[in-house]
Amino acid sequence: MGDRVMGDGVIGDEGGGAVRAPLLSVRDLKTYFFQDDGMVKAVDGASFDVFAGKTLGIVGESGCGKSVTARSIMRIVDRPGRIVGGRILLRSAKGTGSNEIDLAQLNADGAQMRAINGGEIGLIFQEPMTSFSPVHTVGNQIVEAIRLHRAMGKQAARDRAIELLRLVGVPRPEGRVDEYAHQLSGGLRQRAMIAMALAADPKLLIADEPTTALDVTTQSQILNLLVDLQERNGMAIVLITHDLGVIAEMADDVVVMYLGRVVEEGPVDDIFHAPKHPYTRALLRSIPSVDSPPRRKLPTISGSIPHPYNRPPGCPFHTRCPDVMPGLCNVVEPPLVPVALGQMAACFLYPEVRAATAAPEPAAGGGRTPAPLLPTAVGRR
Ligand code: SF4
Repeated sequence: MGDRVMGDGVIGDEGGGAVRAPLLSVRDLKTYFFQDDGMVKAVDGASFDVFAGKTLGIVGESGCGKSVTARSIMRIVDRPGRIVGGRILLRSAKGTGSNEIDLAQLNADGAQMRAINGGEIGLIFQEPMTSFSPVHTVGNQIVEAIRLHRAMGKQAARDRAIELLRLVGVPRPEGRVDEYAHQLSGGLRQRAMIAMALAADPKLLIADEPTTALDVTTQSQILNLLVDLQERNGMAIVLITHDLGVIAEMADDVVVMYLGRVVEEGPVDDIFHAPKHPYTRALLRSIPSVDSPPRRKLPTISGSIPHPYNRPPGCPFHTRCPDVMPGLCNVVEPPLVPVALGQMAACFLYPEVRAATAAPEPAAGGGRTPAPLLPTAVGRR
């Protein structure tokens, strides 16, 4: 990752050349749910950038705020949730910064947001059955998606739908186009949903657990398909998953979320080989590696994610953290700041984070820099 936007939009360039602006900049996004029995801060100050032609992986356990982040970007957060702060800046495909829209300021049900969803941004979900109407053919729904965003006649849109189905690897697309979602296998339904998401040639694709419901072989085929499509049309991908193996295969950059907060962010190689945050390290320890001894139980993260209504004070991870420093971590919330070149973490183990909050130096033994964790090969397929 040569270009990098750090902190609040200050653009840095390690090579000294012209700097490419991100396609999407999320800044201090806050999405809360207001329920009768309390308020849940589902996303509480998330910031990250997404670049054209690159994949940003957002990872974390269930309930950490990944999906709400994606739904916030598309302005499809279900009530009683709503965005209460932050910016979601979508730039023009050229990335000049001159044509920038703050999606957080748009009417979620308005014409402009409807044009952006499906037009500029495509979305694929874990379960395609929920995306397709059971009473219309897959082809008709793709045709409708095309005509919603492109001035195209019915026949031309149908031809385009067949072409899209072929592009995503649906066999006999001329026949499949007239089938209903329930007539397709899980893998074919997922491919058809990707075709629908690509209907208007979006520059950003948000993929929320796109392969979780699929068997391993189909999962691999779908991930390869996303890589091929990205190489073909240069779209940016935001990939949301709990699966670090998928992140290792697909992502260029990674955002790690915990309890609605971004706790670590950086290039995929650094996240896997030199993770900074104890939560990231714990996540990585809990996945099998080729070097794991056979039949050895994998370590798990102690405790469970606190209930969102009972969010702990201080660092959100302190109730489970093996490195917790009482009197600091349970009192002050660590900010997300750069702790290494291109890598940010929100953890008081790092002097940069303590300096940012004027927190006291930890007792002897605290504040250490952890050793690299995994020898696993990381990279795009
Ligand atoms: Fe652990 Fe403290 Fe770092 Fe939080 S701030 S992750 S509790 S060491």
